[in-house]
Amino acid sequence: MSSAKPSIRLLATGGTIAGAQNASGGYAAAVMSGDELLAAVPQLANLAQITAEQVAHIGSQDMDESLWLKLAARAQMALDDPAVAGVVVTHGTDTMEETAYFLNLALRTDKPVVLVGAMRPATAISPDGPMNLFNAVAVAAEPAAKNRGVLVVANDEIHFAREVAKTNTTQLGTFKSPNRGLAGRVNRGRIHFFGPTVRAHTMASEFAPLAVAELPRVEIVHAFAGLRRDLIDAAVRLGARGIVIAGVGAGNLSSAALRGCAEAAHAGVAVVRSSLTGGGVVERNIEINDDELGLIVAEELNPQKARVLLMLGLTRTSDPAQLQRFFQIY
Ligand code: GLU
Repeated sequence: MSSAKPSIRLLATGGTIAGAQNASGGYAAAVMSGDELLAAVPQLANLAQITAEQVAHIGSQDMDESLWLKLAARAQMALDDPAVAGVVVTHGTDTMEETAYFLNLALRTDKPVVLVGAMRPATAISPDGPMNLFNAVAVAAEPAAKNRGVLVVANDEIHFAREVAKTNTTQLGTFKSPNRGLAGRVNRGRIHFFGPTVRAHTMASEFAPLAVAELPRVEIVHAFAGLRRDLIDAAVRLGARGIVIAGVGAGNLSSAALRGCAEAAHAGVAVVRSSLTGGGVVERNIEINDDELGLIVAEELNPQKARVLLMLGLTRTSDPAQLQRFFQIY
């Protein structure tokens, strides 16, 4: 009776969604394969024809730049296949926002790309992974999900890659989009999209399709009361091409550390000021004279996403003005 279901490619990387709990309440991430995750949700057959590929077997704290490049290449290959309607990536939640934002700028596609994870292991009491996976596949198979950039689905919510952040260590509602809100909601596969994102992604990304062999080294230095400049100097000595300051408040840092940043910028290292507050905009030239010191501001990107964009930006230029432009577009 029904015509063929859309074809979805699942790229499995591990994470708690594929985790197994032990008797004492601890658990190991990335124990189950993508095929095993699919087999646990037979209702998926009502949504799509799904083929799984195991790209990695890790807790997402072990995600790194080389794995991002591999994942992007596998996803781009699947998306370039005219038979594939969309891609779902299973991923640990710890670094999911970074991977999502990276793919959001690295993939050239208008097809849905959805990252999904879980807070409870697959063998826990009341695991959240199966419903999250069902909802993620529903979104990936949905034509109206096209051209919204990379999405994250969890806890019945759909988030834009640029906006989503993990905000709680254990709770199911850990993902929030504090600055610009949700992309939509999804209830047992029924999808309600809100407005599109205004920031550029995928088809409009000048980094996509990403064709680099490696990404430049960019470090993050976390600010606090009494921050010294030593770690900034160390990053420069270690050959970092960029430094992201996870600043207090609106991207602030101590005078001593700021001097270190200005010297780093003068020496050709790209220095981006972001905020560790979890919300709001870091604007240029408010308390700090960015123009004079040669600094860049992250606008709304949190430190770890600012690092992703800075790495991509540095594959094109090391000019602070050009790099600043990227933070205004993406
Ligand atoms: N640290 C694990 C990971 O990110 C567990 C977090 C999770 O997946 O929920 O893969």
